[in-house]
Amino acid sequence: MLILDRNFMAPQTTPARAYDVIVVGAGLGGLYALHRFGQLGLSVLGLEQAAGVGGVWFHNRYPGARVDVESLDYCYYFSPELYQGWTWTERYAAQPELLAYLNHVADRFGLREKILFETALARAQWRPESNRYTVETSTGQKLTCRFLVMATGNLSAARKPDFPGLDSFKGEWVQASHWPDRQVELAGRRIAVIGTGSTGVQLIPVLAEQASHLTVFQRSPNFSVPARNGKLDAAKFAAAAADVPGRRAALLQTRAAISSNLGPPSPYAAYSPEERQDRLERQWALGGQGMNRVFADQGTDQKVNDAVADFVRAKIRGIVKNPQTAERLCPTDHPIGSRRLCVDTHYYATYNRENVTLADIGADPIARITETGIQTASTHYEADLIVFAIGFHAFRGALDQVDIRNEHGETPTTNWNRGPRTLLGLMPEGFKNLFLLTGPGSPSVLANMVIMNEEHVNFTAGLIAHMDARGLATVQPEPAAVTAWSATVAEAAAKLLRLGVKNYMVHVNQDDGSRVFMPYVGGLDRYTEICRETEAAGYRGFAFGRAAEHAP
Ligand SMILES: Cc1cc2nc3c(=O)[nH]c(=O)nc-3n(C[C@H](O)[C@H](O)[C@H](O)COP(=O)(O)OP(=O)(O)OC[C@H]3O[C@@H](n4cnc5c(N)ncnc54)[C@H](O)[C@@H]3O)c2cc1C
Repeated sequence: MLILDRNFMAPQTTPARAYDVIVVGAGLGGLYALHRFGQLGLSVLGLEQAAGVGGVWFHNRYPGARVDVESLDYCYYFSPELYQGWTWTERYAAQPELLAYLNHVADRFGLREKILFETALARAQWRPESNRYTVETSTGQKLTCRFLVMATGNLSAARKPDFPGLDSFKGEWVQASHWPDRQVELAGRRIAVIGTGSTGVQLIPVLAEQASHLTVFQRSPNFSVPARNGKLDAAKFAAAAADVPGRRAALLQTRAAISSNLGPPSPYAAYSPEERQDRLERQWALGGQGMNRVFADQGTDQKVNDAVADFVRAKIRGIVKNPQTAERLCPTDHPIGSRRLCVDTHYYATYNRENVTLADIGADPIARITETGIQTASTHYEADLIVFAIGFHAFRGALDQVDIRNEHGETPTTNWNRGPRTLLGLMPEGFKNLFLLTGPGSPSVLANMVIMNEEHVNFTAGLIAHMDARGLATVQPEPAAVTAWSATVAEAAAKLLRLGVKNYMVHVNQDDGSRVFMPYVGGLDRYTEICRETEAAGYRGFAFGRAAEHAP
């Protein structure tokens, strides 16, 4: 193992400061990576473009932001003491609490001092003569590392609003994904929200309570189910905290490491009509993502999916009093669960308020932003504040914002024209010693992302330890293994209804319109097994090199 200058706060000098591992991003993946690699005795440095830790929970401070997986699932499991020592207040923690938790983790494990904040990775070049990356930051620092770990998140590169006329708007506008860390005046203002995905669905009820008038601009409706949020169930917490490793192991035997309210489902045909209705009603009453798992075959059988979707549409019509508005809010262009299911608090009931208008920009598109509001093809809507909740450049956005090159001048996404090319979603093809935590080709955003990140960090730590024990300098995926893994990912998705839907998880090939579902949908349980088999087989599919083989 080489060097190591741990005194990274010192002024930059040449030669470049050398680390074993540079971890880019200080969200929940990056934080655990810094901790785990540090435990191995490796010298580690974190780079984070933001001013603090937390990733998604640092940036997304919009009112109403909260996790849509239960807090008891959506937290680290690597330290039982950490789990036991932090008590969530709500069933679904809100953003301030999630951010406080991640700051607590950073302090408890001494991670903050390993991170350069307000410092982005700008460039990285693999140098075969030294078997290291040379790294340049946005602040002009020059560093080197043996391993580069991108913990940059799949939903961290926000789409920027590019509506014509935005520059002329005399009011205020904000992006939900970069909600300013200051008081944004809401009370008594005419507010416009553009976007009704997970973020919009969380924001809208909260804004409606304070706005003098709220206009929601919806291009196409998404399915949303009630969260049924409330105080954390103390007995449930006590049971979970009593056996943290046991609970983690049990979650890893599920498809997404998300507790299922009703337990593992059987196919639709296995239930009588009364049992089906009972399951749907019970799941609606329990709330949350479980609506995706009422019947085992609802993601693959259109008729079964229709039964679930019809049930939710009937609920929407039952809540929203204006029948025209209710119809506009009922999704009919995609199967339920084929886009991320939104989880809300009083979303549909918000449309019963006098001060809320739904503008259907699918039928009447936005033409431009004016000095005083938003002009659609037919109507002008006055606004003092515009909130954009328009999503992210998912999966590759954060990678495409930086310049990472291998020895052939390629970037990690150079060969992704027909979908991502990775081994296990962790290493991109053609790159040595480069890791993408929770990358496309892993279960990624389909799973509980805390556990998903823990799994990828643990696998990477094991791989580095394996290499160091054997004096190996480089690792890269074998091209044949990448091809085989891409086929496995495609095969798992082949029968999915969601493959045919416009969705941030679907890559559409430009030449023939064929589709690639980017995350691995075979389940976190099966994925974890495959990772264990790969480790047991001496990291099958990964090609290793010794320093001498690459020496100039
Ligand atoms: C609003 C919202 C709600 C979500 N809710 C849930 C949920 O309920 N359940 C769930 O499982 N998942 C949810 N997700 C998915 C979420 O992405 C993960 O849960 C999790 O936060 C990902 O953590 P991460 O560390 O992998 O990435 P992130 O949290 O995205 O962190 C990546 C970090 O990398 C930094 N970064 C990016 N590029 C660079 C660069 N070049 N240089 C330096 N730093 C860089 C970013 O600033 C960011 O801090 C949500 C996502 C969003 C956007």
